[in-house]
Amino acid sequence: MAKQAKNMTPANKMKMRIDYLEKVGRWNLFSMNVLVSLGELQHGASLARNPKQVLDIIEENLQKLIQFKTMAFFMVDEDSSDFILTRISPEEDRERIQKVIDEQIENGTFAWALNQNRPVMVNTDLHDDTVILHVLATKSRVRGMFVGGTPFAQKEINGQTLYLLSIMIQNTANALESAALYELIYDQNVNLEKLVKKRTAALEKQTDELKEEIAFRKLAEESLTIAKVEAETAARTKSEFLTNMSHEIRTPLNAILGYGEILQYEAKKINRPDFVKDLQAIESSGKHLLNLINDVLDLSKMQAGKMELNVQQFKVSSMIDDVVATCLPLAKKNGNRLEAIFEETSIETMVSDEARLRQVLLNLIGNASKFTNDGVITLKISSSTAGEEDQICFEVRDTGIGIDSETLDTLFEKFTQADSSTTRKYGGTGLGLAISRRLCRMLGGDVSVTSAFGKGATFSVVIPVDLEKKLSQMDAELAKRSATAPWKSKLADSSVAAGSALSSEEPESKSKRKLDLRSLVLVIDDDRLVRDLIQRYLEKEGFRVEVASGGAQGLQLAHTLRPDIITLDVMMPEVDGWQVLTQLKEDTTLSKIPVIMLTMVDDPEKAASLGANEYLPKPLDWDRFIEVVKKYQKVPNVGSILMIEDDPASRGALSRILSREGWSVSIAATGTDALAILDGELPGVILLDLILPEMDGFEFIANLKDRGTLGKVPIIVLTGKELGKAELIQLERDVDRVLIKGEYTRAELIEEIRNLNGKLAGQS
Ligand code: ADP
Repeated sequence: MAKQAKNMTPANKMKMRIDYLEKVGRWNLFSMNVLVSLGELQHGASLARNPKQVLDIIEENLQKLIQFKTMAFFMVDEDSSDFILTRISPEEDRERIQKVIDEQIENGTFAWALNQNRPVMVNTDLHDDTVILHVLATKSRVRGMFVGGTPFAQKEINGQTLYLLSIMIQNTANALESAALYELIYDQNVNLEKLVKKRTAALEKQTDELKEEIAFRKLAEESLTIAKVEAETAARTKSEFLTNMSHEIRTPLNAILGYGEILQYEAKKINRPDFVKDLQAIESSGKHLLNLINDVLDLSKMQAGKMELNVQQFKVSSMIDDVVATCLPLAKKNGNRLEAIFEETSIETMVSDEARLRQVLLNLIGNASKFTNDGVITLKISSSTAGEEDQICFEVRDTGIGIDSETLDTLFEKFTQADSSTTRKYGGTGLGLAISRRLCRMLGGDVSVTSAFGKGATFSVVIPVDLEKKLSQMDAELAKRSATAPWKSKLADSSVAAGSALSSEEPESKSKRKLDLRSLVLVIDDDRLVRDLIQRYLEKEGFRVEVASGGAQGLQLAHTLRPDIITLDVMMPEVDGWQVLTQLKEDTTLSKIPVIMLTMVDDPEKAASLGANEYLPKPLDWDRFIEVVKKYQKVPNVGSILMIEDDPASRGALSRILSREGWSVSIAATGTDALAILDGELPGVILLDLILPEMDGFEFIANLKDRGTLGKVPIIVLTGKELGKAELIQLERDVDRVLIKGEYTRAELIEEIRNLNGKLAGQS
C-alpha cells in the first residue's frame, strides 16, 4: 500500500483523498440520517399505544438503516412461552423464514442469539442472503426475536451499522414493553371504568329508591299530620259538645234528683214505703247517669288535652282523712272494714293536684268496697325513690272477689268490666280505671294492679311527691333538647306549654277570699281630731272605718271603696260638704250610699233637699251618732238565702228543700232581679247559677264588686257549666264555694250553707 502510494501521481493521490473524504462525508450523512431516524423511532415508539404501531415504526426505520428484503418478528406467547411469527413482510416469505428459524432453533443459533443482546448473523439460502437475528429484550424479560434478511454478504455490513441496529432493536423492545404495559393499564382502566360505571349506576338506583322512599315518607308524614290535626279538632269539637251537653243534662237531672228526694220525704211522711222504693230507684238511676256524664266528660277532656291540673301543696294526712271519711259509708254498706295505714314515711305534705289524686283514690276504694263483702279494705301509704325523685305510693288492697288474669290485661281500658253481669250486679260504668290511669299519668306516675281471682285485688298508685319540681325538670329537659334539636322545638313548645299551664297561676289567684261582714263607714272630715274620734267610736262598735281629709279625697275613696255609709262634714276648704253631697247623689253608682251630714251650721232643709239621709249637729252626741249610723248598717240576714237560678224546675226543688230546713228563700231568675233584692236586704247566703239570661254569673259578681257587696255576703256557686282554669281561679278569689251540679248531695249543700252561716254568726 505504501509502495502503491509512492507510485501514485499527485493527481491520483489527490483523487484518492477526495474519494476517501467523500466516503467519510457520506457515512457521516448516513449516520446523521440514522440518528434522526432513531430520534423519530424513539419519539414515535414512546407515543405508540400498541405493539402493532411500534412494529410499524421500527420496520420503516430499520429499512432506512439496512435495506432488508425480509423483516420478521417472532413474539413470545405469554401462555405457551413459544416464539410465534407475529409479523412478516413481505407475506410470501412467511414459510421460508419460518423454515430458516426452525433450522436455527435446531442448530442452537436461535438460543445463542437470545442470550447475546446484539445482532447475530447467519448465512442462509434465503435469497442467497445473510439473515440477522436480534433478540427483542428489556432488562427484565425477552419479548421476542427480530429476524431480517438482507442481500448483503456479512462482510459488507459494517460494525457501526450493526451497532445502530442493536440500539434500534433495544429501543423497540422497550417501546414494546411500555406499549404492553400501557395496554395492560388501559385494559385495567377500562375495567375500572366499567366497574365504576356499574357501581355508579347501582348507587344512582339506590339514590333514586331512597328519594322515592323519602318522598313517600314525607307524604305519609303529611297525611299523618293532617290526620292528627283532624283528630285533634274532632276531639276538641267532641269535648266542646260534651261540655255544653253536660250543662244541659246536669241541670234537669239535678231537678229530677231534687224532686225525687222531696217525694221520698213526702212518701215517708204519708207512710208509703212502696213509693219510697220506686223513688229510690229513680234516684239511683239518676245518680248513675250523672256519674256516667262526669266520667265521659273527664275522659274526653283528657283526650282533648284540656284537663288542667291545679298543682298546690297539701297535707297528705288531711287528704287521706277526707278520702276515708267519704268512703266509709260505702265500705260499711257491704260489711267491710276500711283502714288507712301510714307506713314509716317522712312525707307530710306533697305538691300535686289534690282533687285529682283524691278522685283516683275514691275510685279505687269505691271499687274495692263494691267488690268486697264482709272483708277488709286497707289503704297503705308509703314512700320510695326513683333516681332522684321522691315518690309516694298509695296501695288499695281488698279481700274481695278478685280479678281473673284475662281481665287484668285490659282492666285500664275504657268500658272494661269483668263481665257484663258485673254491671247488672255491681253497677258502674267501666270508665273509672281508665280515668284513674290517665290521671295518675298526668300526675307524673302510674297505677298498676295485682290480683288473683277469688283472692282480692291490690291497686298501687305511685306518683312524685313534688309534681311542680318534676314538671320544671321536664320543662328544662325539653328546652335543652329543643335547643340542640331544632326540629323538635314544635313538640317541645307544646309540651312546655302544657307543663307551664300548670304553674302559670297568677299570684293574685292565690289570695283566697275572706269574708268581712263589718259595714264600712267612710268618714270625710278636715279636722283630724274629729276624724280620729269618729273612727275610734265606730271601730269599737264593730264597724270598719276609712277616712278622708277633704272633699276631693272623699269622693275618690267613695268610688274605690263603695262604703256602706258616709259621714260628711260640711265646712271644709276647697270642696265643701254640700258639693261632695251633690256629686255623690248625681253619681248613679254612689247615689244609694246613705250619707250622714255632720255640721256646725244649722241647715237641715238644705241637707234634705240635696239628698242627705241624716243631719247631725256638731259637737256630736256620740250615743245618738252611733244609733244613727247603726240604723244604716247592712248586716246579712243569717236566716235568709237568695237563690239566683233561671231554671224553674231546679229552683222549685231546691227552694222547697231549703225552706224545709228552716231558711227563708228569696228567688231571682236573673241577675238584675237579684241586684234589686240586694238593694233591700243582704241575705245570709247567695246561691248563684253561672249560666243566666242577660247578665251571667260572672257579670253579676262584677256588679257586686262595684257595689261593695262582694265579700260581705257568702256566695255558693251551683253550676252545671264545665269551668276553665281561668274561671276557676276567678271564682276561687271571688266566691266561697263552687259546687258542680250532680257532684254534690243535698246534705252536702245544706252543710255548706250551715257552715257559712256559722261563720256569719261568728263575725256579726
Ligand atoms: P266501674 O265504674 O265499672 O267500676 P272501673 O273502670 O272502675 O269501672 O272498673 C272496671 C272493672 O274492673 C269493674 O267493673 C270490675 O269488673 C273490675 N274491678 C275494678 N276494681 C276491682 C276490685 N277491687 N275487685 C274486683 N274487680 C274490680
